[in-house]
Amino acid sequence: MEVIAGHANTDFDCFASMVACRRLYPGAVVALSGSLNRNVREFYRLHADEIPCVEAARLDLDAITRLVCVEATNPARLGDLETVARRPGVDVVLFDHHRDGPADWLPPENVVLADDGALTTTLVGIIAEREPAVTPLEATVFALGIHEDTGSLTYPTATQRDAEALAWCLRHGARQEMIGRYLHAPLAEEERSLLDALLASLGTHDVAGVELLVAAVEWPEYVDGVSNLAHKLVDLTDGRALVCLVEMEGRVVAVFRSRTPEVDASVLARALGGAGHPQASSAMYQGRLADARQAVLDALPRAVREPLTAAQVMSRPARFVTADDTVAHAMVLCQRHHQSGIQVGAPESLEGVVSREDLDKAIGHGLSHAPVKAIMGSELVTCSEDTPLAELARLVTGARGGRVPVLRDGEVVGVVTRSDVLRGLGEPVPEAGPPAGVDVGQELMALPGLVPVFEAIQAVSVPFEGVYLVGGTVRDILLGETGFDLDIAVEGDGIALARALAAQLGGRVVPHEKFGTGVVRWPGGRVDVATARTEFYDEPGALPTVEQAPLLQDLYRRDFTINAMAVSLKGEDFGRLVDPFGGLGDLRAGVVRVLHGLSFIDDPTRIFRGVRYENRYAFRMDGRTTALARACVEMGLVGELSSARLREELKALLSEAEVADAVLRLDELGIAQAIHPHLAADETTAALLGRVDALRSSYAPDEPVWRPRLAVLTRRLSVDELYEWFDRLKLRRRDADLVADAVAVAPRLPGILETVDQPAEARRLIEPHDPLGAMLALAESAQGAAAGWLRRYFEELRGVELEIGGHDLTELGLGESPRVGDILEELLRRKLNGELPGGREEELEAARELIAAPAGPLRR
Ligand code: ATP
Repeated sequence: MEVIAGHANTDFDCFASMVACRRLYPGAVVALSGSLNRNVREFYRLHADEIPCVEAARLDLDAITRLVCVEATNPARLGDLETVARRPGVDVVLFDHHRDGPADWLPPENVVLADDGALTTTLVGIIAEREPAVTPLEATVFALGIHEDTGSLTYPTATQRDAEALAWCLRHGARQEMIGRYLHAPLAEEERSLLDALLASLGTHDVAGVELLVAAVEWPEYVDGVSNLAHKLVDLTDGRALVCLVEMEGRVVAVFRSRTPEVDASVLARALGGAGHPQASSAMYQGRLADARQAVLDALPRAVREPLTAAQVMSRPARFVTADDTVAHAMVLCQRHHQSGIQVGAPESLEGVVSREDLDKAIGHGLSHAPVKAIMGSELVTCSEDTPLAELARLVTGARGGRVPVLRDGEVVGVVTRSDVLRGLGEPVPEAGPPAGVDVGQELMALPGLVPVFEAIQAVSVPFEGVYLVGGTVRDILLGETGFDLDIAVEGDGIALARALAAQLGGRVVPHEKFGTGVVRWPGGRVDVATARTEFYDEPGALPTVEQAPLLQDLYRRDFTINAMAVSLKGEDFGRLVDPFGGLGDLRAGVVRVLHGLSFIDDPTRIFRGVRYENRYAFRMDGRTTALARACVEMGLVGELSSARLREELKALLSEAEVADAVLRLDELGIAQAIHPHLAADETTAALLGRVDALRSSYAPDEPVWRPRLAVLTRRLSVDELYEWFDRLKLRRRDADLVADAVAVAPRLPGILETVDQPAEARRLIEPHDPLGAMLALAESAQGAAAGWLRRYFEELRGVELEIGGHDLTELGLGESPRVGDILEELLRRKLNGELPGGREEELEAARELIAAPAGPLRR
């Protein structure tokens, strides 16, 4: 039995994550251990039929073979199921947040630690990649999980992925009115009384100039959701930092909140044995209220982070021009150093600041040779080294050129710019200067026959934000390969670009509006154009909504660093390599590396792709990528692969020039057995593949190379298993029949042929089957009489034909009748058996005899 379990006091993120895990482990049962938070309980009471769960206490613990744990980095949180989690022989898998610390009680390959604000986001990401068929109720639960753990996307830990996952939930039917209802569950009677008591107990402490609120009460009965009450306290008091302590049933529930960088809530929680992040943390303290309170107050000095000052954030040295330098010179310096202004004078005698805007205007008025002092403003904003960051943020916004010189004893020791302030606040800093990078423009222009295509793209790309060659195309160009597809990603409306390009090249476009893609064909070639895609997207079946998104997100969705590069095709930018993940380095080092830790779990077919690239280019997955592939298999997350995708990847892998090593690698990673337990991928199989390949190229060169190879891999499956698996793969009926026939016939042929002594008989027995089965049989046993017949069949017998035909028999006077066929068959039999070596004349002679013979069996 497979069981999914979370922690006691289950909140919506934990509950939603468990519900999401059901999609990854379809046979598993969701077990509830301990109490649910009130809003989760109310939701669950009403919807238990649609989201079936069982109480952990009612499970037969001995029957559990796999335990999927959610938010249980500390296994003690699993309640009754902790013993199961620790029992040898149980396959334990854990999904949790990074921030909850390391999960050192499990091997790392069984653990997925997420960086998203809500764990639900991580799991929704996986589901979105794999199987979008969730019910609106599930989507609602997921949305509640994300809302709850990200404070409706307002917590600093909330990420863009959380927002996208939430949008995905809405697209899949999440019900806003339900979200509103369960998110803001009105307080129950006992919660209201506790909240009143907490408010009445509020006291303040001064920490580094910040007012810290402390609420502490003893309470006679257990009340759920102290963290929710803490949240309400923050709202009611507008406090910037809060400690909330409630002693109930002999222990203290402690919740800490901080909305200011100067107080680190996680330090306070650690003082009581808890954990969390600087903005929100909690602890369960086994002791008395007074002791807890004292421990927190003692920890206060450690929780204080001194505010940053100008000395810590400023840029050094400050650059200067003299008042007599020209406007043009000042402008050149600003451009060269990507500055939005520059100081005038010298460090010991600051005279002013000019902004780039002023310089720009002056140049526009023909004043580039005027001295800077002519345009320099007289007002001057400066600060000292100990000016705090908050003050700097205010000063910088009002200062000319967005820069504030820092003075020590009247001398300039540095300058604080907008970027310095942003960095100090931990906010994103805009990139300065032109995007650096490798230029592969020359390589592009050297590609045979493609220059006119690139020129056409250049001509039509002006209205679009960005136009790039992407993915495998870039990889192949950098590897010096030829014969690659041209894949283009557009930031903007991909179909519009495809149309414009078709017009430019005198071709046609086949658009797929739903996906924002288009194929442009013209007499000389083909280009695939796509709109750069976001992280969360839908499968074809599920009415996709493709959002326009920038290139980086598109690249982030890709499989490996070597496939996650782009080359700009637009204007001045033409040839710039965009390589955010170090793909070029990996290409040079021969490394296949995933972009992030969840890559294989998102899409296990990538393991096949990885093996394919290892095999094709003699590359190697790096250690982490290999470990992640194994972990994905280990966690049982490959079994539910979307079948058509797997078929395509399997066919692609089996269509490469050499496959023996790739197949052994599939075996080594455990993935061959994970996709079907009877798939053969061992050393014998590898050797057999080599023999079958050789036979195919001699005896059936038109046969697609993957088909005999697939027969080799599946030769140990029964016919029923074969058809069942091929059905799941949605393999074409004809391919399935051919492979199944080969697998069924190959082991029988040697027995059938063992007693044959006439060539015609051998051909009669072998011919009705597709050559696939005969090749498989021959590959499996190259010795013995049967092998001799099989080889002779391919090399000689199957090519034997009569030199006469039906019309010759008519000329010899035989009217149309079944005898025509019978006589030709008999003649062929004789010829195969070497009885008619003399060619056409001899065949005609024998035909004459047979026509003249009395009706009856023809065979001598
Ligand atoms: P080849 O066809 O030579 O194996 P390719 O890179 O052109 O290489 P495609 O299957 O055509 O392979 O895919 C095009 C691009 O789409 C890839 O380079 C990769 O960036 C991306 N891609 C394809 N499949 C996946 C996947 N399962 N997950 C993530 N990205 C993928």
